[in-house]
Order: sequence, then C-alpha cells, then structure tokens
Amino acid sequence: MKPSAHALVDIGANLGNKAFRDDLPAVLQRAAAAGVHDVVVTGTSVGASTEALALARTGDAPVRLWATAGIHPHHAKTWGPRATQSLRELCQAPQVRAVGECGLDFDRNFSPREDQLACFEAQLELAAELGLPVFLHERAAHEDFYAIMQRWRPRLRAAVVHCFTGDERALLRYLDLDLHIGFTGWLTDTRRGQHLVPLARRIPASRLMLETDAPYILPKNVRPTRERRNEPALLPHVLAAVALARGEPEAEVAAASTGTARAFFGIAAP
Ligand SMILES: [Zn+2]
Repeated sequence: MKPSAHALVDIGANLGNKAFRDDLPAVLQRAAAAGVHDVVVTGTSVGASTEALALARTGDAPVRLWATAGIHPHHAKTWGPRATQSLRELCQAPQVRAVGECGLDFDRNFSPREDQLACFEAQLELAAELGLPVFLHERAAHEDFYAIMQRWRPRLRAAVVHCFTGDERALLRYLDLDLHIGFTGWLTDTRRGQHLVPLARRIPASRLMLETDAPYILPKNVRPTRERRNEPALLPHVLAAVALARGEPEAEVAAASTGTARAFFGIAAP
C-alpha cells in the first residue's frame, strides 16, 4: 500500500460485516497507513449497530472509529417500537454520530415497502428528536424518498445520501434540499457508474464526502487481485476517481471532503 499524504474520513464502512471477522486489526492498520484517520462504521440493524458501537469503543485502534445506529431498509421488517427504543439507547453513546443507515430500497425489496416507509420515518423522527444527522440509503426509490425528505428536512440537523448512484435530476433535488452526498467507488464502474462522472462536478465541496461502503463496491481502479473485498485502505482510490471527475487536484478534494465530513459528524481534527 502506497503511503498517502491525504488525511481522509471514510464516512461509511461495514466493519462489523463477517468479511472482516478474521483480520480487522490488519484492515485498520492498512487504513491508517493509507491516510484514513477516521472511519464511521455503518449500523444496519439493531444487532449490527450494537456491534458498530462496540468497535467504536475500542480505544486502541490505529484509526479513530465512530458509529451510526440504524436499520437498513433491507431489514425494515424487523422494525418495531422496541427497535426504535434500542436505537435511542445506542444513540446516547458519544461514539454514535448519526442515525442510519435508513431509507428506501425498492430495487430489491427485501422488506415490504410499507415496512420500509414506517421504519424510515421512525428513524427520521428519532434523528429529529435527538438532533443527530442522518445517514441515508436510497435505491430505485427516488420519488417516495424525496417526498419524505421534503417533509422532514426542516426538522433534521443534517443528512447525507450515502453511496449516491442516482441521476442528475435526483442529485439536483437532493442538493436543493440541502442534503450532503456520499460518493463511493460506484463511479469507477464502467458498466453502471459512468453517469456519475459528470455529476461529481455538480456537488459543492461543502456537501461532498467520500466512503468505501466496504466490504462492498470494490473500486474498479484498484489493480485486480484475488481479493474481491473492499476495505477502508482503498478510500484513496475513490478520492482519485472523484478528483479526476471533478478536474481538481486530489489534495484539494481530500482536504475539502475531510473538512466536510468532520463538520457533518462533529469529529474534531486529530
Ligand atoms: Zn446503503
């Protein structure tokens, strides 16, 4: 791994995923060596959020770990008042910096749409109540998602559409709502991500953040190895692709996105 001069924040990594069960300490060492100073560990269910918080409480990691607490739309059918109460309790921990990931996924509909809508709104309510930012997931659900966010945005401190993969109209509507945008290695995908390349320039630096979404979405500009797993140490590849798309130096995009992420999650510089 080449050393990186750029201090980065990975705003979304699923480090509780079983893909990292055997070698998380080495994964974190590589992240630190790659310049990734902070990783926000994504919570996708009550169980996964509990695990994300446990990781974030590990004091001796070579990178600083933070957590989100939420229920992914895929798991919306597990939602109920008890789950909201569990999330509320997790959010009391100072390491939990956002509610989510939450939102709508009508691409795969692993949970019924009615469950997704109820689970999503319950988490927006919780974020509004607690004054926490929201970490959002939207896939093939722009119209419903946008209508809900239009209603809720005034009550929310801040919100990021993580792993944005939508079209120009969706992007401009999200920016109009004063939402932040998270970019992963999706734009390096020559088959399904090329529409994002011109859109990368349309995002003000103060709203753009970088993430790996590890272990998913291995950037295609990583030299292929046997390893198909994405990890936070590969965030510089997302940076490189976004900087190229924006026509800006990597150092500039790194500094801006890191500053934006620190402000969004309330993370002080180390
Ligand atoms: Zn997601």
